[in-house]
Amino acid sequence: MEERPLLLLDVDGVLNPLGRQVRGFRRYEVTVGGTVYTVFLHRDHGAKLLRLAEETGAALTWATTWEHLANEWIAPRIGLPSLPVVELAGAEPVADGMSAKTPHVAGFVKGRPFVWFDDALGPEDERYLENHPDVGEFLLIQVDHRHGLTDEHLDRARDWLSRFGPEKDDAIPGQ
Ligand SMILES: [Mg+2]
Repeated sequence: MEERPLLLLDVDGVLNPLGRQVRGFRRYEVTVGGTVYTVFLHRDHGAKLLRLAEETGAALTWATTWEHLANEWIAPRIGLPSLPVVELAGAEPVADGMSAKTPHVAGFVKGRPFVWFDDALGPEDERYLENHPDVGEFLLIQVDHRHGLTDEHLDRARDWLSRFGPEKDDAIPGQ
């Protein structure tokens, strides 16, 4: 059974800032179902996230309304491999002020520790997760949708995940 911590990743407002174009970001036009979306992506985000995952032993996972399309349209453009996806279909109504993703995340994590980078989480999400029987330890990192993911967010995730540590048995085989 998979026990590694998870790094849950939003796209819009996190990897694709919603403010004015910021230096270092590239503009892409993405056509989904006949609708053209403009996204701004930063190549460095992929490498930094991969390094964070490697250092902490955590598994990168999409938690975005792009769902599986994130593997098609976002991941290759920032150098990420295809990642597992928290599926959001069949959403139940949620309390005011809560993200529609949160019950799906609760169902997905199955007690694994997780960090969640998102621009639309608040106290209601935190309360829901704290009271959910299938949710263990977690850290919500609220990202400013105007600027997207920063090194400071990544450092906070790294610090928090350091308590879990990579499997030492794997690091020193036979000892
Ligand atoms: Mg978002």
